[in-house]
Amino acid sequence: MSTEESPSRAAEAGRKIIITIDGPAGAGKSTVARHLARHFGLLNLETGAMYRAFALKALRTELPLDESSSLEKLAAETAISLEPGEGDNRVLLDGEDVTGLLRNQIVTDGASRVSVFPAIRAWMVRLQQQLGAMGGVVMEGRDIGTVVFPHAEVKIFLDAAPEVRGQRRYDQLGLKGSIPEVQPEEVIQDLRARDQRDRNRADSPLRAAPDAVILDSTNMTLEEVVQAAEDIVEAKLKPASNTLVR
Ligand code: C5P
Repeated sequence: MSTEESPSRAAEAGRKIIITIDGPAGAGKSTVARHLARHFGLLNLETGAMYRAFALKALRTELPLDESSSLEKLAAETAISLEPGEGDNRVLLDGEDVTGLLRNQIVTDGASRVSVFPAIRAWMVRLQQQLGAMGGVVMEGRDIGTVVFPHAEVKIFLDAAPEVRGQRRYDQLGLKGSIPEVQPEEVIQDLRARDQRDRNRADSPLRAAPDAVILDSTNMTLEEVVQAAEDIVEAKLKPASNTLVR
């Protein structure tokens, strides 16, 4: 995709731009997405939160997380919606605000497990396409540039070495001195397990879209990553900025 055709594609489609941010856990996607949304006046949509909400429901109903057909049945009677805000998204599960219940280790692991099933992914992709249909969004996840919005104007694939991502996650979670004590190595190990599942699943595995800009943040501070992402978007949008519908 050339930079010249990007903004006009949005204009032709009669919608605003879409920015996709994909990459493994702990690469800095949420920070970058939040910043880009604020900076460019777009909505920030975190698709991982949707998988997390569904995992929460499966856990509550005590369904085995490896039974595709039971999960599929559960999905058919589940409503998940995201309400984008300034910071994190508000997540509604069957109308209940579950935003504060999604970041613990059990739900995190559950989300990684339920997301391997094609029927669950197809359902989520449909919901996400509806959410972003009008454009004007930064959508963050694992398959946004490859599957959900393959024609997005700007695609960023954010990566970093597992040790660096694990350490960042450890710091973010404030685990230093925690009781019971959690070591950075445990977080890194968990991250590797999730990566393994995301990268090796048969249906829409985690990978960069061919037209994504790859940003490796291993040796960058989060401030530098945010700036680099902003520069990528500016560069993509510049040539035809007068036709841009933001
Ligand atoms: O991004 P987050 O860590 O919140 O995502 C939780 C889990 O949901 C990930 O580990 C991944 O397995 C899954 N996921 C996915 N596709 C997405 C977003 C998240 O498979 N678009």
